[in-house]
Amino acid sequence: MENLNPHVVFLPFPAQGHVKPLLKLAELLSHAGFQVTFINTQYIHRRLLLSIDVDAFQRRFPNFHFLSIPDGLPPHHPRSLEYLLPSIGSATLAALRRLLVSDLLNRTATCIIADGIMPSSAVTAGEEFRIPVLAFRTFSACCTWTNFHLSKLIEEGEVPVQDKDMDKLVTCIPGLENVLRRRDLPSICRVQKAGDPILEFFIKEAKAMLGASALILNTFDELEAPMVSKLTSFFSKIYTIGPLHAISNVRINDDRSHLASTTGILWREDRDCITWLDSQPLESVVFVSFGSIVSFAHDQMLEFCHGLVNSGNPFLWVIRPDSIIVEDGDSGQLLMDLQERTKGKGLIVSWAPQEQVLAHRAVGGFLTHGGWNSIMESTHAGVPMICCPVISDQQVNSRFVSEVWRVGLDMKDRYERSVVEQMVRDLMEAKRDEIMTMMDGVAEQARESVKQGGSSYRNLQILIQDIKSMTT
Ligand code: UDP
Repeated sequence: MENLNPHVVFLPFPAQGHVKPLLKLAELLSHAGFQVTFINTQYIHRRLLLSIDVDAFQRRFPNFHFLSIPDGLPPHHPRSLEYLLPSIGSATLAALRRLLVSDLLNRTATCIIADGIMPSSAVTAGEEFRIPVLAFRTFSACCTWTNFHLSKLIEEGEVPVQDKDMDKLVTCIPGLENVLRRRDLPSICRVQKAGDPILEFFIKEAKAMLGASALILNTFDELEAPMVSKLTSFFSKIYTIGPLHAISNVRINDDRSHLASTTGILWREDRDCITWLDSQPLESVVFVSFGSIVSFAHDQMLEFCHGLVNSGNPFLWVIRPDSIIVEDGDSGQLLMDLQERTKGKGLIVSWAPQEQVLAHRAVGGFLTHGGWNSIMESTHAGVPMICCPVISDQQVNSRFVSEVWRVGLDMKDRYERSVVEQMVRDLMEAKRDEIMTMMDGVAEQARESVKQGGSSYRNLQILIQDIKSMTT
């Protein structure tokens, strides 16, 4: 007989852009009646407690449990990727094994939904304990497909990317022959030598992902069908359930009245910026946010600052406390300098309620680093983008935004003030009509996909059914 209460264990990578979408999916499954165990690293768990009232959360999701595990680094150590990647895999595997034999999980898990950036620990534990693993890759389908070709890119001599070859087209990724130049490959391809440890990490984890029984993507079919179709050569089951932040507000179970989600945000939001936006003219404001990880030197920040001010558009600019790279000096002083220079022209905040900002009537454009959550959120809100990619998948995403979907511009590798100014003017005036025609169409598809009967909505229902059937 079917056990109606499956138990899903979530294992996100410890970063904002990963915890947020996995937490959204976990809430949706909890609403569907599943038992959920959400495993964060201790460091992330402490930060999440700043935005979640755990008691209220527990009342709303009585079958939802948070657990926390070590990430392998001492408590006060910096947690950038270079430090985290060497330690996290083995620390996670050891912790998972302990949990799976303890009373906390005690072999009750129906399946593990593991972050696709680092699935190897879950795949190994899943094999040992005979628990199916589903990989949730929080990247776009186009970057996920690209990442599966890292070894081939090295074999063909296209990676490591040399400065002189940046504009050559990449030839060895099927389906992308006329799309990607070498400068559009993920930033890990810009290394000195093929054996680079971070590049090796991504190659190893992409291989490990093939041990998952299915792939979950925060994208929608109407946007990425060609790439999703390519990925079916690796996975017999793919669930495209994006834009996930918007699907959270959709009823998914007839016997439940509504869904509302927590944000899964690791910073304190400055909500006063919404009042400031209320006072700005329709579609006049450029929202500037580079996500949760990317940071810039002060000189680079000055280029953005001059470019934005010179464009003449009002702007709302997120500068996190750790956004400015400081060698020797005081980031507070540098921030004050930027605030002084932008006084009366724009507003600087340390963290914004981004989904709400993008949905605001005053926002007409988004200067973004091109993180995948940001692109999904902007697409759903119908806000055209200027992408200035820095790391990871952002190079691939920005190429697709400008050349494939044509819903924005790509500022890749050209961050001088004159380029910033010109691109903002193009987005807000000269090229606006042409870009908005494309964006309106894509936004409509995004909104339809998460409505009842839409593609992502249906795929979420299928995912729920498939997990239920694992308990029979
Ligand atoms: N975000 C936010 N407020 C901010 C900046 C970012 O809420 O001021 C959220 C944003 O909505 C997105 C996430 O942080 O969901 C960033 O994820 P993304 O994949 O865009 O970039 P990453 O941080 O992983 O580089």
